[in-house]
Amino acid sequence: MTSFVPATTQQREILPQELLRTEPVEQLLETASLYLHIPFCHTRCYYCDFNTYAGILPLREPYVRALLKEIELAGEQAHTIEGQPRRSRTIFFGGGTPSLLTVAQISRLLTACQNAFAVDQDAEITLEANPGTLNKEQLAGIRAAGINRLSMGAQSYDAALLKKLGRIHNPDEITQAVQYARAAGFTSINLDFMFGLPDQTMQHWRETLDKALSLHPEHFSLYSLIIEEGTPFYKWVHEQRITPGDEDLCADMYEYADELLRKEGYVNYEISNWALPGHHSRHNLTYWQNLPYIGMGAGASSFFANERYTDERDPQTYIKRLKGGEIPVAEREEVNTPQAMSETSFLALRTAMGLHLPTFEKRFSQPFSQFVGDRLRVVAEAGLLEQDGDWLRLSQHGRLLGNEVFLRLLPD
Ligand code: SF4
Repeated sequence: MTSFVPATTQQREILPQELLRTEPVEQLLETASLYLHIPFCHTRCYYCDFNTYAGILPLREPYVRALLKEIELAGEQAHTIEGQPRRSRTIFFGGGTPSLLTVAQISRLLTACQNAFAVDQDAEITLEANPGTLNKEQLAGIRAAGINRLSMGAQSYDAALLKKLGRIHNPDEITQAVQYARAAGFTSINLDFMFGLPDQTMQHWRETLDKALSLHPEHFSLYSLIIEEGTPFYKWVHEQRITPGDEDLCADMYEYADELLRKEGYVNYEISNWALPGHHSRHNLTYWQNLPYIGMGAGASSFFANERYTDERDPQTYIKRLKGGEIPVAEREEVNTPQAMSETSFLALRTAMGLHLPTFEKRFSQPFSQFVGDRLRVVAEAGLLEQDGDWLRLSQHGRLLGNEVFLRLLPD
């Protein structure tokens, strides 16, 4: 193995020990995390390009029925060689706005997952929610139904910025939603916030983080605004009606948040994610470790049995095809071993933990150094990678260069 610059003490501290105590990879490869896509929103936020729709709330019940059918079919398809239900460690209700479903609908979907898959007793079961759509009774009902983690799209504590984003909630509703969630017994709460927003100052960002910290969430996801084609924001940027935060301000905001959250005991275990010990998102780690997952619902993607496939995006077509008794796959692609090796390295190197070299070798029966060959030495000598024991990760300089490191490191 090429010699690398040893990781600094600070980097060792960020290595979340609980993440090391994972199951053997061959065991994890036999599981499938479950994702359920709920494509309803009251209104569309101006920056959003997710597969989600406003104005189709009457479709909720037919959609839930279609999703129940897909869960049943997907469960049968995913049976193990022995004909047993596939084990699942996590379930994630994402969207859209899953909190726009009734408690009874959420409960039926959860029961269907438990019937079709062998869901772990202590599975992490997350529901994404918007602060403006939550009330006390509903949160108590969701918790009683078995949801044990809430992920809330808070985005900002500044009322004017929330309005500019097209969000339907106000700052007080964030605080209230967290209080209701605590009262309902939630002990694992994530809050999402955005930086680099048009007209957002460092002062706004500091105030947002201070207020959020006073709620003691167990997890933070912090994202810089990305202007996606086809959104109102895209149009407004091109018409020069709005200007997102520049690169330097975004970098300052990121650094400020990272320093503050670390001081408060949070671990930055992935570029955009910070968690108190024991509260990292097991579901998201499935993606970053390139482990199998089955996505169900309109436009949901799966990575299972050496294939990536995506369901029909349009909710009406999705419902219609399920009525016909088929899983409504719209696109399917085989993932060969070299592709899986590249994707596994790429995803792992984006995390703060990095790539666990013995696991890579065990999974693909080839050491990482052999897979990338001489590229490893070149990239390491450029100071872009660091090795700490069995872990390989991007250096600080490497993180700044991001994708360029992967282009230089990974075979075409
Ligand atoms: S609530 Fe979330 S999913 Fe819905 S439009 Fe806004 S950002 Fe998109």
